[in-house]
Amino acid sequence: MKSEELFRRASNVLPGGVSSPVRRFDPHPFFAAGGSGCLLESVDGESYIDYCLAYGPLILGHAHPRVVEAVNEQIKRGTTYGVPTEGEIELAEAIIERVPCAEMVRFTNSGTEATMAAVRLARAFTGRDRIVKFEGSYHGAHDYVLVRPGSGAATAPDSPGIPVDTVRNTLTVPFNHEEAMAELIEGAGEDIACILVEPVMGNIGCIEPENGYLQFLRDITRENDIILIFDEVITGFRLAPGGAQEYYRVEPDLVTLGKIVGGGFPMGALAGRREIMENISPAGNVYQAGTFNGNPVSVTAGRETLRLLDGRMYSDLERKGSTLRAGLRDLLSDLDLEYQVTGPASMFQLYFTGEEVRNYGDAKKSDTVLFMEYFHGLLERGVFIPPSQFECCFISAAHESEHIEATLEAAEEVLSGLKN
Ligand code: PMP
Repeated sequence: MKSEELFRRASNVLPGGVSSPVRRFDPHPFFAAGGSGCLLESVDGESYIDYCLAYGPLILGHAHPRVVEAVNEQIKRGTTYGVPTEGEIELAEAIIERVPCAEMVRFTNSGTEATMAAVRLARAFTGRDRIVKFEGSYHGAHDYVLVRPGSGAATAPDSPGIPVDTVRNTLTVPFNHEEAMAELIEGAGEDIACILVEPVMGNIGCIEPENGYLQFLRDITRENDIILIFDEVITGFRLAPGGAQEYYRVEPDLVTLGKIVGGGFPMGALAGRREIMENISPAGNVYQAGTFNGNPVSVTAGRETLRLLDGRMYSDLERKGSTLRAGLRDLLSDLDLEYQVTGPASMFQLYFTGEEVRNYGDAKKSDTVLFMEYFHGLLERGVFIPPSQFECCFISAAHESEHIEATLEAAEEVLSGLKN
């Protein structure tokens, strides 16, 4: 097996054999040879129906011809300039047109950088130091938000190397729990700069906000002069053209974007109300910078991707998601397993637990050993989902009915062999 060999070689030069922790799974990850549409091919000659989709960016699938062509044209003219381009304006305008709260945009290179800038901006704007996040929410790998994180760090919260002082001002509450938030704000509201929330929790599986919960966050932040930041690195351009804020009809003050916005290339963005955004340097004095900010290749891929994402595509994605979730529930209802199938639109996850999953505490109660058996069973049958209970599965525009059907057949075979 070529992947096994490559993993041995990789382990010698890359910590853990990978460049980002969740990519590692036992006995070893498969190495990619290429991707096309909804299929990902390994160096061992296997082909997988891909529901990981690089953890979210590939809403059009791998190597969409129009995106590839646009990027090729751009590369011929140079890959980075250190001076502005018209493409940046076009992409910013496309974001502003779609995302309700966006009036101005700052481009970054990753979601991590976007949330880092958002927290700094919120602190500067309010003159307050404390920030609130949710148990199990993930906003990237920077110090201020790596507190009770989800994603790859869900099993090892609070990384060594982060000074206690750095996270002293980071407060956490459970998601979907109004009293906990009300109580926190009652006690510390005047010191809180922002609430940073993933509108759909996508780094502890996939957990939707309960009816009215995002509006509750909007109301309580407004009443207390706290900035509401939606971290839409996953949900942006995925749930709807305007992301979760359009899908659930609640408008935050700031939004962080990533993944889809770069069309498969490294990119993040911070956007929001003009009054706040104008404080970013050099318009204002809140420092944010990057050699590759607004990189023309990423901008081109992002712009082309947004152009291709029309209304019909979103209704198709919604339908495919419903079919897959309903199919999973249908086959699970005939089996002797405790389960929850969750997710909106083209996001989904399966938890092996009999109780409803509303937040991190609930997600942690699910049977993660069984989940890994499910993962490996699917992999053996040519279906690739993220190798962790605490990630979210995605569907792309390139997944056709036949792929969804093949996936449900594989899932039936796997699940009928499991017991909890
Ligand atoms: N926020 C959320 C909600 C994310 O899911 C992620 C990454 N999965 C990030 C921020 C960090 O983005 P990046 O990996 O591009 O730094």
